[in-house]
Amino acid sequence: MIILSKIYPVIIVGSGPAGYTAALYTSRAQLAPLCFEGSVTAGGALMNTTEVENYPGFKDGIMGPNLMEEMRAQAERFGTKFITDDIVKMDLTSEIKTVTDGAGNEHQAHAIILATGSGYKKLNIEKEDSLSGRGVSYCATCDGFFFKEQVIAVVGGGDSAMEEATFLTRFASKVYVIHRREELRASKIMQQRALNDPKIEFVFNSEVKSILGEDKVSGIRVKNLVSGKESDIALTGLFVAIGHDPRSELVKDQVTVDENGYIVAKADSTLTNLEGVFACGDVVDHVYRQAVTAAGSGCKAALDAERWLSSKGIFSAEGS
Ligand code: NAP
Repeated sequence: MIILSKIYPVIIVGSGPAGYTAALYTSRAQLAPLCFEGSVTAGGALMNTTEVENYPGFKDGIMGPNLMEEMRAQAERFGTKFITDDIVKMDLTSEIKTVTDGAGNEHQAHAIILATGSGYKKLNIEKEDSLSGRGVSYCATCDGFFFKEQVIAVVGGGDSAMEEATFLTRFASKVYVIHRREELRASKIMQQRALNDPKIEFVFNSEVKSILGEDKVSGIRVKNLVSGKESDIALTGLFVAIGHDPRSELVKDQVTVDENGYIVAKADSTLTNLEGVFACGDVVDHVYRQAVTAAGSGCKAALDAERWLSSKGIFSAEGS
């Protein structure tokens, strides 16, 4: 048996339901995990949502940030050591894996669980970056307050867009939803809520061609994809809610990823192509992407890592 001191049995990179659940399970297995939860992104995407109505166990719903606080506290109770920093570099190909944090410190482990989630997808149009924070936003709960009694638009047709549009009606005088197709991708209940809201107007079959305004957003130019006609809408806020891209940049040259950047896990497991490297949550899942499925896959990654460590005879100093 190998007794470890400075080399951790397992380091978890990322938080959110997947990272926190992996932390809970590995800490209960007495593997004394170290979890890098991110500097600004600690808690993951649910930190920017409002009410979560479909996480089992909360019949009246729970606010996204509260759910994440509870998960984090539960993992901490069993001995997870959290570091609220980003990992900026990873060497996963050696037997002992090394990760480097934002302050330049290196940390080593036998096993790594990747739970880095996903980031906001951008429209990739001119002025999107330069007017970000000046009318362009990716987070309704963060920025909605600044648009009291103003006209704004949300881009997208998924659950995020419906949730953001509905939430933004608390502040805005009018909310346009610009969607590139005729049908919405969002779940029926979220669609219905938005479609029934008198403050929301849907603009279907349309894409945002350009953002108008110099120092701040003053409008958008929208193209109807059926007629080809372009028209301007005067508004002060543009909320982009068109989904997320997996955060795999740091590892994509070492770990196998698919054509969209999602880490590829071996069938029915969280094993990557590298021994001792496991992946879970939204960085792997382009199909389900729910808080509960992310938590489930975090649990699977912890169990896979625990079994792998045990097969190597590796236990933590504290746990053995
Ligand atoms: P999503 O389901 O992938 O939807 C993205 C939407 O943006 C789609 O309507 C898509 O159009 C559109 N889109 C994508 N790229 C675009 C582009 N370049 N330009 C214009 N439009 C573009 O993403 P999401 O809404 O963020 O949801 C992600 C996951 O989280 C889903 O599984 C969802 O159910 C879940 N979620 C759940 C809740 C909740 O239950 N409370 C809240 C938020 C999210 P097309 O439809 O044409 O592809």
